[in-house]
Amino acid sequence: MNKTQVLIIEDEPALRTMLEITLQSNNYSVHQAKKGKDGLIMAENHPPDLILLDLGLPDIGGQQVLAELRTWFTNPIIIISVQKEEEEIIRALDNGANDYLSKPFRTGELLARIRAALRSVISEDYQPVLQFSGLSINLEERTVKREEELVKLTTTEYNLLLLLAKNEGKVLTHAFLLRTIWGPGFINQAQYLRVFIAQLRKKIEPNPNDPTYIITESGVGYRFLGMFG
Ligand code: CA
Repeated sequence: MNKTQVLIIEDEPALRTMLEITLQSNNYSVHQAKKGKDGLIMAENHPPDLILLDLGLPDIGGQQVLAELRTWFTNPIIIISVQKEEEEIIRALDNGANDYLSKPFRTGELLARIRAALRSVISEDYQPVLQFSGLSINLEERTVKREEELVKLTTTEYNLLLLLAKNEGKVLTHAFLLRTIWGPGFINQAQYLRVFIAQLRKKIEPNPNDPTYIITESGVGYRFLGMFG
């Protein structure tokens, strides 16, 4: 079986080495670029299955690399950022990044995010039923079942759950969710989202106070996890 190819675009040598060792020992094949331009060339010559992209690069910025990649590259891109760059993270997610990791991060977290991002690619084909552990969504009937029991959802709750579930593993920003579900005029109505997320959790989560399906990404948005890591 071919190994999953990961391209790391990161200028810090220590972090690059750490990522390389971690990924290689977990059976990924790793390529590295120290600069944004090199990363773009490498991605084009050998399109990887996933890219880890640092936002702070010495030549062209990570946001520009992301924008150029997203004109043709459809596989997952995970952003590596400094903890304080919340606005930059949100911008990158809105511009097509799948997920982000803030430095410093644990290797277990890194590997889990990579697995989740790769899984979202596999489930891209049309399936009439989205099946997750303990939860299923029937796209034709527009019904949701938890442990084989029908869950009664309003239209908005259903649309919100479906949007999150179709993007399993990916962080969706508050602005993206508000714009997609309620419309462009609602981008600042964060309270709508809080209310509907709380309602959804009450209906689908085994323990709404400790959610396992709809995960809060503090200050950024929400992420759906269907397989519990
Ligand atoms: Ca950097």
